[in-house]
Amino acid sequence: MPLVSMRQLLDEAARGGYGVGAFNVNNMEQIQAIMEAARETKSPVIVQASRGARSYSQDRFLYHLMLAATELYPEIPTVLHLDHGNSVDTCKSAIAMGFTSVMMDGSLMPDGKTPSTFDHNVKATREVVEMAHAKGITVEGEIGCLGGIEDGHGAGLDGLSHLTDPDQAVEFVQQTGVDALAIAIGTSHGAYKFTKKPTGETLKMDRLIEIHKRLPHTHLVMHGSSSVPKDLQDVINKYGGKLKPTWGVPVEEIQLGIKNGVRKINVDTDNRLAITGAIRKVFAEKPEEFDPRSYLKPARDAMKKVVALRMMQFGQAGHAGDYAPITLAEMANRYEGNRVPVVP
Ligand SMILES: [Zn+2]
Repeated sequence: MPLVSMRQLLDEAARGGYGVGAFNVNNMEQIQAIMEAARETKSPVIVQASRGARSYSQDRFLYHLMLAATELYPEIPTVLHLDHGNSVDTCKSAIAMGFTSVMMDGSLMPDGKTPSTFDHNVKATREVVEMAHAKGITVEGEIGCLGGIEDGHGAGLDGLSHLTDPDQAVEFVQQTGVDALAIAIGTSHGAYKFTKKPTGETLKMDRLIEIHKRLPHTHLVMHGSSSVPKDLQDVINKYGGKLKPTWGVPVEEIQLGIKNGVRKINVDTDNRLAITGAIRKVFAEKPEEFDPRSYLKPARDAMKKVVALRMMQFGQAGHAGDYAPITLAEMANRYEGNRVPVVP
């Protein structure tokens, strides 16, 4: 099947009461790891690329790798999503390239660093929604600012500096018509999210629950939601790495989020850790190896394991065959006729 609408995946997830992991990619091995995990667990899947990934891979390579994924895994509903679009133009170019979902992150100015105003955010996001929905493409917005910096994107502040205000969230959704909303509840991008296991003081799940109560029909998105498990950190450090002690978002907190409206969970760091640990292990144990496959294959396997585990933990496993994906043209009709959500 062709790449599909993210809106439909999230509507179905809401109906089924589960979450869908959105995994970042830059290359073929990462795409293969995700698709293999999706097949093994029978999961619908969101593959996402940041601006950094688009420039690293050159859009065209990435897009054709994703087409190969849809040919080779026809039973898996697969979304190609733009992570953190910084401007209307970036979203426009992603849609032209064939992405079926885009994030317009107007919480920051187009420099991707400076926190913006509410008005800037609404205006840019609204413009993307109009352009995208006319083509059946899904839009994710963000209100409040995530912590940290990833791929040069982020205000570089800690996760608690710009938490999402529930009143603003309601106003933002009403004024923009976004399909999904990323909220800031204390999480950060990158490996160093928390200096100890997060508590209600540092990870504001109560804020998320409040926003869900106010916006029960909006799909919430948790960014910066790698769990950064100790065993993955340990492999890296055992084989010569130097990661400082760090904590991510515990899976049980994500599962609490899923019970409270979270439908998309962004995971990147855990996969990076798995890949790096596997490669370090080969380099340390077999220094005579020089065929890239000798370390890329274990790296791909290690990432697949993490993705498959998250798919089971988020609840998307087993749901790949639940529904027949609608075409983007049909999605455009439905937006036009106000017949969204797909699953009422
Ligand atoms: Zn993010």
